[in-house]
Amino acid sequence: MNRNSNIKKDILEKIREYKRIIIHRHVRPDPDAIGSQAGLKEVIQHNYPDKEVYIVGDDPGDLSFLSSMDSIESDTYSNALVIVVDTANTDRISDRNYSEGKDIIKIDHHPNEEPYGSIQWVDASSSSTCELIADLVKSTPELTLNSEAARLLYAGIVGDTNRFLYPATSTKTMELAGFLMEQEFSHTEVNDAMNQVELKIARLKGYVLQNLQVNSVGVGHIVLTKKILKDFDLVDSDTSAVVSLPGGIQGIEAWVIFVQQQNKAYRCRIRSKRTVINEIAKKHEGGGHPLASGANAKDEKEISEILNELTDAVQQKK
Ligand code: AMP
Repeated sequence: MNRNSNIKKDILEKIREYKRIIIHRHVRPDPDAIGSQAGLKEVIQHNYPDKEVYIVGDDPGDLSFLSSMDSIESDTYSNALVIVVDTANTDRISDRNYSEGKDIIKIDHHPNEEPYGSIQWVDASSSSTCELIADLVKSTPELTLNSEAARLLYAGIVGDTNRFLYPATSTKTMELAGFLMEQEFSHTEVNDAMNQVELKIARLKGYVLQNLQVNSVGVGHIVLTKKILKDFDLVDSDTSAVVSLPGGIQGIEAWVIFVQQQNKAYRCRIRSKRTVINEIAKKHEGGGHPLASGANAKDEKEISEILNELTDAVQQKK
């Protein structure tokens, strides 16, 4: 029996043991965060109908077609098991009450920068946290899926692999996506909901493509100031729709979408085709995956530093 099988067994034992389970995920959720959180809730409720299961965190915004959050009192945490999905660092856990539970389990696919919880199932080779939850169900004879759990987990896999395009997409990802599709839900409806954007976001896509700066080694970047976002009537979270765009352009090796925040600093959404970039992100209050990271730049000077570091890293890789 390999290490992952033992961890999965331990997680199931904890789930069986607790009557009340509260599931958290990271701030500014993406489809994998909501899908794994709400998908795990469905799996637990479907298989253990006597348990109380809650999902909490900031509002899912335009991901509300996937799920909505529960609202609970802080005393709900007494004697509760807390499971945190898709979140590498404790300071990114949405809803600070997570630490009030009796026990904490971490389930994640980001590099394990900050180990936390009494059980940690962290597999950075997995495309998504939804893939891990799907694997938990498929490899556990006593667990079955329902169509809602399958819909949610499928959405997270589609989201984090950018429709099975990213290199983290493996044969296992495809097998598990197929396993989920055996349930009755409309995968085309999920795909359509995830492809559709509001007109104002489509216009931002046009702006990003028109104004992207690309240097001689293939590092692209664009700065979306508060004013630009305001002109497009958009907020920070809307920028997720444009993050993958430069990846479709020939010659671009790595890129950053800098998004100015209320405090005037910049959130940096860094992506790369081959060059590892999470070490650079870590130097700027960030982290993440080798090819998809986030960081913070306090001013234009730090923006230049990040672009120079990326340029050096891309040059070394060539
Ligand atoms: P984003 O550009 O926000 O979609 O982030 C890309 C990846 O980097 C996600 O998987 C995040 O978990 C990670 N990430 C983003 N911001 C940070 C941060 N400030 N610290 C650590 N990891 C981050």
